[in-house]
Amino acid sequence: TRIRPSSKRCAVIGGSGFLGRHLVERLVEKGYSVAVFDIAQRYEVPGVTFHQGDLCDKQALVKVLKDVSLVFHCASPSPACDDRNLFWKVNVEGTRTVIQACQEARVQKLVLTSSASVVFEGTDIKNGKEDLPYAKRPIDYYTETKIQQEKVVLEACSKEKDFLTVAIRPHGIFGPRDPQLVPILVDTARKGKMKFIIGDGTNLVDFTYVENVVHGHILAAEHLKPDSPLCGKAYHITNDEPIRF
Ligand code: NAD
Repeated sequence: TRIRPSSKRCAVIGGSGFLGRHLVERLVEKGYSVAVFDIAQRYEVPGVTFHQGDLCDKQALVKVLKDVSLVFHCASPSPACDDRNLFWKVNVEGTRTVIQACQEARVQKLVLTSSASVVFEGTDIKNGKEDLPYAKRPIDYYTETKIQQEKVVLEACSKEKDFLTVAIRPHGIFGPRDPQLVPILVDTARKGKMKFIIGDGTNLVDFTYVENVVHGHILAAEHLKPDSPLCGKAYHITNDEPIRF
């Protein structure tokens, strides 16, 4: 019989990114030992080991995951790149590779960072629940692959294989070191381009503080057990009220 690694040994794929780094820092505060797997290393935190590699490389992943019981997958090409081939290669094929590597390494739990845009059809959603269907016409290539990625991860959930999965769906994330949302808003405002309103000014956008998104991920991980209703499910994560935009 194999001795299971401690449930506090985890890996964060995409741990060098905006959300990933916040997640890593919180996990360390909570007493987890953390391995980061990312194509780039951008910081150092005592007690965190860094492994530079591409998640499409199964062998590189297996090496890192073999002493780990819990994996967070929050890596993705930037939505701004709009490169359909890259999104498919990393978000869909790469996520299949992540699942295979987890199963080979006998990881027990996988928490995916999905996106609320997987249910967005172009019209406002208020109080949308998780039973909304996936968007039939996703708004862009990024979202198209986030839908496939989420399906692949949730379908892999198997009590028989001792491999449990869950997906967290944030929308816009803000907070310290955010590379996109606030800097782009400020830049646009400085250029005087915020005077234009698309629609009638009542469009809804949901923004969630990064610490709340992190909290949602850790809660999901800690409650993911063979008999819990979380198995193979996706959860929206949000602050109280969407913002009129
Ligand atoms: P980010 O770009 O800051 O971080 C992504 C990380 O993934 C980067 O460190 C990058 O180096 C890494 N990465 C990319 N391709 C990789 C590969 N092939 N192998 C290994 N690592 C790779 O992005 P973020 O804002 O932190 O987003 C994290 C996750 O949250 C993504 O899955 C994204 O789809 C999701 N999400 C983000 C937002 C948001 O507003 N930021 C909203 C909804 C969902």
